[in-house]
Amino acid sequence: MSDFDDLLAANREFADSFDLGGFDGKAHAGIALVTCMDSRIDPLRMLGLKHGDAKIFRNPGGRVTPQALEALVLGVHLLNVQRVLVVPHTRCAMASASEADLRARVGESAGVDASWQSFGVVTDQLGQLREDVDKVRTHPLIGERAKVGGFIYDVDTGLLTQHA
Ligand SMILES: [Zn+2]
Repeated sequence: MSDFDDLLAANREFADSFDLGGFDGKAHAGIALVTCMDSRIDPLRMLGLKHGDAKIFRNPGGRVTPQALEALVLGVHLLNVQRVLVVPHTRCAMASASEADLRARVGESAGVDASWQSFGVVTDQLGQLREDVDKVRTHPLIGERAKVGGFIYDVDTGLLTQHA
């Protein structure tokens, strides 16, 4: 018995009709997406994309972190990425709570001190988005090699609006 039995059962069903084997790992639509881990975001569907089309990097807030840049550099040079979308979203906890508030809430849940844990909270979501897009555009290994855009995804309407 595993804590994951339900998921493994679902996976066996998935594998029964699996017809995507032998596929390469490139971004077939030339798209890379950096977005939030939020469960309200369905990254492929919201862009009309399908399996195999895009490289997707997710973290709290949809931030262009050093790890996101690693992924984008690999994407642009080795995985056919030609366009990069940076997509934070409305009603994101990372842009509405304070660092102190998140630490307090996590500390309360954990029952131990969480004051040492950083969460990378954003106080100015649009300003941060422009800064994050600039990090991609000015990266020496990306620069002009890919088109880069910054967007906000509205979790209540499903609409993307471009801001950078
Ligand atoms: Zn979020």
